[in-house]
Amino acid sequence: MTPLANSSRYYAILLALAGTLCACERSPKEIRRVKLLMGTKVEIIAQGRNEASLAKAVELGFQEFERLEAGLSRYRDDSEVSKINRNAGVGPVQVSPELFMLLEKSLEICKDTGGAFDITILPVLSLWNFNEKNARPPSEEDVRQKLSLVDCQKIILKKDQYLVFLPEPGMGIDLGGIAKGYAVDRVAELLKRNGVSSGIVSAGGDMRVFGGKGRGLAVGIQDPRNRSRVLAKIYLKDSAISTSGDYERFFIFQGVRYAHILDPRSGHPAQGEESVSVVGESGLSTDAWATALFVLGSEEGLQMLKTRPGMEALFIDASGRRRASPELETKLVWLEGAD
Ligand code: ADP
Ligand code: MG
Repeated sequence: MTPLANSSRYYAILLALAGTLCACERSPKEIRRVKLLMGTKVEIIAQGRNEASLAKAVELGFQEFERLEAGLSRYRDDSEVSKINRNAGVGPVQVSPELFMLLEKSLEICKDTGGAFDITILPVLSLWNFNEKNARPPSEEDVRQKLSLVDCQKIILKKDQYLVFLPEPGMGIDLGGIAKGYAVDRVAELLKRNGVSSGIVSAGGDMRVFGGKGRGLAVGIQDPRNRSRVLAKIYLKDSAISTSGDYERFFIFQGVRYAHILDPRSGHPAQGEESVSVVGESGLSTDAWATALFVLGSEEGLQMLKTRPGMEALFIDASGRRRASPELETKLVWLEGAD
């Protein structure tokens, strides 16, 4: 792969198509706010009758993001997640019911995806230094050694006291593949409770849409190779869409792109897909499944989705080929010049 070929890969992100959004909702007021949170761009679009109450609700929404980041980030020493990690091989940690539920869901998705989504990936993830542009791949021996610590089934959960224990020293969890999806769910629910009739909450590649009349709100799927081009749009009503791609955190070493989603079987970055978008009921599930399906690839992924009604996916592979699950295929509106 030449450096030129690498530089032609672009971000696959999702964006709200503003015009369509407004046309779908007859409420007179809409506000949009953006903040940098959870290491990404968080955007809230809220529609309703009263501008002052919309602004208040959006403010509460951002506070909710901040609260979740404080508890769920592994980068914060004082987060609940860091406390669990510090106590790996030491002893159980009592956590909030909320985090406990998130861990239970993470384990369930780990099992359902045959281990493709695995929050115990942290020891191997830490070897890869995806946050550094001049990083290089770790040695195979290091990868192999740390890989023995990766196994979601090793996490011990005791529900009666909300206890969490990582039994082996060196184990660690990272919620980077599910926390933003959970956060957009929470914030959308909060906005609804505070009088917002329809809107969109997005955090990086995770988006939750709620309300809206008729077909719902239109969301665009961008070309992973050309950020300025919207490939397709889809109308969503009270559902979530997440995209995982090889573009957000990565480094290039000797012409090869190493991106931040690891295949827990090999401990190496998953190869093959450029982006995977998943549509489903909740951001929690679409976020985690997008990560898992990015690892599994379209062949295995589409097979797995057959047993998951309500979850649909679009795969765009490294050669630009697009494959969607049958139901999604009927919902995607491909835009002119997009094929
Ligand atoms: P983004 O964070 O760009 O939205 P994802 O939702 O796909 O993308 O999450 C990727 C993040 O999830 C990584 O940065 C890492 O923190 C974590 N991660 C990487 N590989 C896996 C995996 N196989 N299972 C679970 N989490 C993973
Ligand atoms: Mg994800």
